[in-house]
Amino acid sequence: MNADDIKRVTVVGTGTMGNGIAQVFAMNGIDVDMVDIKQDFLDKAVAVITKSMDRLLKKEKITEDAKTASLEKLHTGTDLSVAKDSQLVIEAVTENLEIKLDIFKELENHCPPDTILASNTSSLPITQLAAATNRADKVIGMHFMNPVPMMKLVEVIRGIATTDETYATVEAMAKKLGKTPVEVNDYPGFIANRILLPMINEAVYAHMEGVGTVEAIDEVMKLGMAHPMGPFTLADFIGLDVCLAILEVMHEGLGDPKYRPCPLLRKMVQAGYLGRKTGRGFYDYSK
Ligand code: NAD
Repeated sequence: MNADDIKRVTVVGTGTMGNGIAQVFAMNGIDVDMVDIKQDFLDKAVAVITKSMDRLLKKEKITEDAKTASLEKLHTGTDLSVAKDSQLVIEAVTENLEIKLDIFKELENHCPPDTILASNTSSLPITQLAAATNRADKVIGMHFMNPVPMMKLVEVIRGIATTDETYATVEAMAKKLGKTPVEVNDYPGFIANRILLPMINEAVYAHMEGVGTVEAIDEVMKLGMAHPMGPFTLADFIGLDVCLAILEVMHEGLGDPKYRPCPLLRKMVQAGYLGRKTGRGFYDYSK
């Protein structure tokens, strides 16, 4: 199969990432079956996509006709069996290995043998997800960045058995979406999070040890390293629970104590201070 053969995709999980992924496919003329556990979540996802397109319309980046045509490409449902009509499935559910393994097992039963199964996981092993299917050669990581419509990068992650053909199809598909794919091998955290999360974790250690305030550390990294945002602002944006989960996967998967999550990060998560989404993280967003 090549990328031009992909006319319909299924996106499983339509939260922050899934709705962005569905949006970019729909805007490129590809039919998307969006699947989540409740119709409410799907309705919310479509509302988020509509709002995002309204912003693009206002900035004159798309026309009213393009918006209407894209929205017509979106189809919603709670039954994974719709994936039988897709040439590509992208799983973007909660970062939990058991849930993802169950979905890959179920997809194996619904999808024709040549359907490519991709995961948007931030850190979990593509090779293990692939082993839950009978088509490990057609399982791959397609790691989009948040917010998906804005960010160019897609890490394309090869599991141990992913073939060159599957890789080439997914790479070409990412380019058709206007993204820049980068080839990555399957080790915990891939490239982006392998490098980003230790930096965030070190910032939390530095703060915990009293080296500097949250604001001071962010300022140093912005002005000194020309980062667009400091590590605490970014961690709050990603979600501190998500940061902790990725660090745990890297700590366990790589077995090196240098990846141990900072106790202060753990404490913030225990407190429910998860970042922007809860109104409080390293910064206070309640006002
Ligand atoms: P989210 O919590 O916003 O969305 C997850 C969605 O999955 C929810 O709508 C939930 O209802 C749905 N879901 C859960 N179990 C399901 C099931 N069995 N069947 C169908 N739907 C199910 O999470 P998110 O931030 O969008 O993350 C999704 C994936 O993307 C994760 O693997 C995460 O690691 C990865 N990711 C996240 C980011 C980020 O910045 N948030 C960036 C890159 C990759």
